[in-house]
Amino acid sequence: MSKVRTRYAPSPTGKMHVGNLRSALYEFLIAKHAGGDFMLRIEDTDQERFVEGATDIIYRTLESAGLKHDEGPDKDGGFGPYIQSERMKSGIYMEYAKKLVERGEAYYCFCNKERLDSLKTEIVEGKEIMMYDKHCLSLSKEEVEANLASGKPFVIRQNIPNEGTTTFHDELYGDISVENAELDDMVLIKSDGYPTYNFANVVDDHTMNITHVVRGNEYLSSAPKYQRLYDAFGWESPVYIHLPLITDENHKKLSKRSGHASFEDLVAQGFLTDAVVNYIALLGWSPEDNREIFTLDELIEEFDYHRISKSPAVFDIVKLKWMNGEYLKAMDFDKFYEMAEPYLRESLTKDFDLKKIAAMVKTRIEIFPDIAEHVDFFEAVPEYDVSMYAHKKMKTTPETSLEVLQELIPVLETQEDYSNDGLYETLCKYVADKGCKNGYVMWPVRTAVSGKQMTPGGATEIMEVLGKEESLSRIRAAVAKLESCKESSL
Ligand code: GLU
Repeated sequence: MSKVRTRYAPSPTGKMHVGNLRSALYEFLIAKHAGGDFMLRIEDTDQERFVEGATDIIYRTLESAGLKHDEGPDKDGGFGPYIQSERMKSGIYMEYAKKLVERGEAYYCFCNKERLDSLKTEIVEGKEIMMYDKHCLSLSKEEVEANLASGKPFVIRQNIPNEGTTTFHDELYGDISVENAELDDMVLIKSDGYPTYNFANVVDDHTMNITHVVRGNEYLSSAPKYQRLYDAFGWESPVYIHLPLITDENHKKLSKRSGHASFEDLVAQGFLTDAVVNYIALLGWSPEDNREIFTLDELIEEFDYHRISKSPAVFDIVKLKWMNGEYLKAMDFDKFYEMAEPYLRESLTKDFDLKKIAAMVKTRIEIFPDIAEHVDFFEAVPEYDVSMYAHKKMKTTPETSLEVLQELIPVLETQEDYSNDGLYETLCKYVADKGCKNGYVMWPVRTAVSGKQMTPGGATEIMEVLGKEESLSRIRAAVAKLESCKESSL
């Protein structure tokens, strides 16, 4: 068996969205799982769609996703050039197209735009499409030569018979047969001399020894034409894997236009690259068990492309967030702190021990930007209603809370040790003396120092961060608030 060789073959037309990254990832995993090579090829023959800077985005994205290519424009592996516009300079595409002309599998076409426009009849998905009527197939050899000699613009078209069927095999969809009459004589070489993507990808995949091709299923309809090209050359076609569509939550196709779906945008929103890659791996593929968390190395180990599903995959941002949270929980603390620090600094201007706060939020956030809502109260107690002191399970009311806080003020004034442990011990002693439940005391204290129902840490953890002065001032303010409410309700 020949060595497995896969390629990611993007057209540099913009950002790399989730669907692109999934193709690249699956290609990478298929190659690495089999100990093969993963190649990057830039398909830039469509000069009109070319976007300046898009190639850099591709390099950046592959690198930050950890998808290291073994060969590519920046890494020669003996199959270069790896950029189609450069490959073209050797005349490779024209050479192969001419071979097809000689075999009667392709022909020169000199039809001008007006004539082609007049052939546009069918409207598919809002787009006018044209089936070429083979007009130029009937030109004699002499006519063709005379036209070429006079410099008449031309394209080279694939010659697909009107009769019969073409069958190709896809790993997921099985054998697919189509009527040849439905296949258009597509352009192989354009009038500017560039090959079309449809032709270049076949020539390149063959000449670069590619064994597996993974692409979106929008290419399924072109696959029979590619198959005919392979057959016309007498080449073996690679294993085709056409991936199911990725939809958004509303089951609409994810597009490059939906901003949240580009890799760089997700990273800018605060998602971890590892979590995004892990999540994308599961958009259409699943392991035998229900496991969901995989490092890239584990994916390489487990990835079996036969387990890719045909059903559309839903890009669920809620699930991605959950997964990101799992990555944050598992992250080494120093690394977590390094990444969390800028978010903490943005929310907190006072001189707090940020490491302590980071340790509190680490298991509670799903994504770094969540930090803001979890730590805002350290900066200042938000407006809150005294009804927050009423907690059924803790058996507290605003009245019991006022009493507890009033009693605690002198205790906390004399307390020197404001460490979490020291404070916890003191409060537990008070609880024991009072003969009540823990929550009966902790709930009002935590409410007083935070003003929030949910906080990343307990009462004493928060007080440790706030320090003696600030903790006491917050408790005194809470007492005043509870007293004034008591008076006004009298
Ligand atoms: N250049 C094509 C694209 O970016 C690649 C499709 C394929 O993988 O063959 O969509």
